[in-house]
Amino acid sequence: MRLLILEDDPQLGEALSGGLRQQGHVVDWFTSGPPADAALRGTPYDALVLDLGLPGTDGLVWLRRWRQGGLALPVLVLTARDTLEQRIEGLDLGADDYLIKPIALDELAARLRAMLRRATGRATQAEWVHGDLRYDPASKQVRWKDKPVELTGRETALLEVLLKNPQRVLSKNQLLEQLYDWGGGEPESNALEVHIHHLRRKIAPGLVRTIRGLGYALGAAEDQA
Ligand code: CA
Repeated sequence: MRLLILEDDPQLGEALSGGLRQQGHVVDWFTSGPPADAALRGTPYDALVLDLGLPGTDGLVWLRRWRQGGLALPVLVLTARDTLEQRIEGLDLGADDYLIKPIALDELAARLRAMLRRATGRATQAEWVHGDLRYDPASKQVRWKDKPVELTGRETALLEVLLKNPQRVLSKNQLLEQLYDWGGGEPESNALEVHIHHLRRKIAPGLVRTIRGLGYALGAAEDQA
């Protein structure tokens, strides 16, 4: 998942972004609203984690602005305000879920997975199946013809993006945006090709189709070797 975290508390922001990165997500963490606002306009995030108590403009004000501006992204609100009225206000303004501080990383990760399942219409399906391929987004485990496949974090993230968009051709830039966050510097120019090569080798040659001049698409999940 590519996630945006807006949290001004340095320790909590560091812990959440670090922990979610370790679980294989791509995370951009901001400590104030304006840069997060700019990032949201140009980046295809899967979900937003939003703290309410922010310096300057309050998180609920940002949420209202973004929803009025047409932002359809799932939003999980972090709040120290545990009164019922404030939770209801957040949900009414367009939050999809909320957690009350202190935050447990594992619970946050599980709620994000549940939000994504609902957003992609896989609410009843914990495991994603594509032909002979099975992928469990909770454990990040991949099985091919009932045998486990060892993938790196980026290979897993790439497979997840392809499985999430089974009918679409994805450009190189669209895929790279899902694999690399802003903090890590520019990836090597052939990084994507290398990850795709590894996916084809470890799973099946036909799993990723090259669409000349356009990008890549999920191919047939059956052995065509
Ligand atoms: Ca705060």
